[in-house]
Amino acid sequence: MFPSHQHFMKSVGIIGSGIGGIAAAIRLALKGYSVNVYEANAYPGGKLSEINGNGYRFDAGPSLFTLPRLVDELFELAGENPSDHFRYTKLDINCHYFYEDGLALKAYSDRERLLAEFVTKTNEDRASIEKVLDNSQTLYDLLADLFMYRSIHKAGTFFNSKAYKAYANLWKLDFFRTMHQANKKALKDPRIVQLFNRYATYNGSDPYQTPGTLNIIPHLEFNQGAYFPEKGMHDITLSLFKLAQGLGVDFHFNARVDSIKVSPQKAVDGLIVNGEKVKHDIVVSNMDIVNTYRKLLTSISQPNFLLTQPKSSSALILYWGIDKSFSELGLHNILFSKNYKLEFDHIFNRKTIFDDPTVYINITSKLKADDAPEGSENWFTMINVPNNSGQDWESLIAEARQNMLKKISRMLEVDISKHIVFEAQLDPRTIESKTSSAQGALYGNSSNNMFAAFLRHSNFSRRVKNLYFCGGSVHPGGGIPLSLLSAKIMAEEIPALDRPALHHG
Ligand code: FAD
Repeated sequence: MFPSHQHFMKSVGIIGSGIGGIAAAIRLALKGYSVNVYEANAYPGGKLSEINGNGYRFDAGPSLFTLPRLVDELFELAGENPSDHFRYTKLDINCHYFYEDGLALKAYSDRERLLAEFVTKTNEDRASIEKVLDNSQTLYDLLADLFMYRSIHKAGTFFNSKAYKAYANLWKLDFFRTMHQANKKALKDPRIVQLFNRYATYNGSDPYQTPGTLNIIPHLEFNQGAYFPEKGMHDITLSLFKLAQGLGVDFHFNARVDSIKVSPQKAVDGLIVNGEKVKHDIVVSNMDIVNTYRKLLTSISQPNFLLTQPKSSSALILYWGIDKSFSELGLHNILFSKNYKLEFDHIFNRKTIFDDPTVYINITSKLKADDAPEGSENWFTMINVPNNSGQDWESLIAEARQNMLKKISRMLEVDISKHIVFEAQLDPRTIESKTSSAQGALYGNSSNNMFAAFLRHSNFSRRVKNLYFCGGSVHPGGGIPLSLLSAKIMAEEIPALDRPALHHG
């Protein structure tokens, strides 16, 4: 028997304990509901989990943390002081960039230092970089409220002063050219164009297809800042998981939901979990939306147009325990491809992996020393790859691994293969099997066309009463901040009960 108590209260069943599911659990517990979370894995967090081996610890998925106040907000809602439970620091250097021509750039978070670094080391001029950063802020100011913080599936979102301001500035929203075209026009050094094009990958898109509107993304990192949780990214999961438990949320692990039961009146009737029927008044699916419909809601009609939208890119990650330390590297490092256009053409059009991939190396032991033995480093080494459409991954990965080793060895002037003392791997197939992500996509749908924002599923069901959705595959989109916002937008649809939340301390 799953829910053990509180039969007298209105109950919510949440499918999945990804970061969106945990945030939803917190919000609904605070609204007075009895909340049960069913998680297929033995651990919480979904993509935001960790792996350990040989004295090394790695954050398994997300490595970049922006908009930390969205985490703080959950503690505050529960009447807690966030820093008593979850601490983070702002990065001084957001990323270390390396190019094949020998250029190495540090993207300082301080605007003046950043400009000085870029202007002295490249052919770019100060005014152009400032303009690009200011444009990113303008896009954020015009669009964030409409597309990030609200349901776009409610008419009210489009009839208010903020929406009118966006309409009045339509020409600034850059729908009609690509991110690359916009950056190429604004900047003259191709290496700086490449650097700003990279932000398309933050939601798994292609800078040569995604609209210039997505130049909104650098604003978060350059103008608002990138952060690192003192105990690693996984602590976002752990601290919120503890908060939810303190609010009385019951988590059930190794509990796979097989089906969402829908009554003849088209209302949620409960769930089938590990073959057992459990009653719930409200159901929230944090499972990927495609699989929610295809696997759990087989009895109702499917929104096929939304479900078949192209998915974002995926990733190949090699978690390497390295027995050496590299003073030229920091927390986030990018070793750029020589031919970015061809790299994205391989990922999105040819659905394969380019032989000179851009390599991202995340080293949390730079800031959290106990993530690796002394004198060693924990390398989360990642390349962007196509989502899973049945490629021959064994041979693609074997080849990509060799290309990654060659590139790192060439650019850092070291035979890196000699320093790998531990290795684990994550690829599109395992992302799919571990988190139920359709095609192993990192961020749900891609944003490679101007309509993508409108083609994500809403946070509530129009077909089934009391059925809701949250997480990176529904509105407003993927990534930790948007997954947290999806839970917020979803919870706003559900009325608070006239009953204080449980507080277990
Ligand atoms: P998910 O993490 O997708 O979890 C869903 C959960 O539901 C899983 O635990 C799964 O087991 C469970 N579940 C599914 N089906 C069932 C079922 N039938 N029954 C029970 N349980 C079920 N974001 C960033 O912000 N910054 C980054 O740097 C970043 N980098 C990334 C790198 C990688 C390699 C990956 C994989 C993702 C990255 N992301 C990043 C994206 C980010 O991780 C996701 O957008 C976010 O974590 C998605 O959260 P979610 O709430 O959708 O749940």
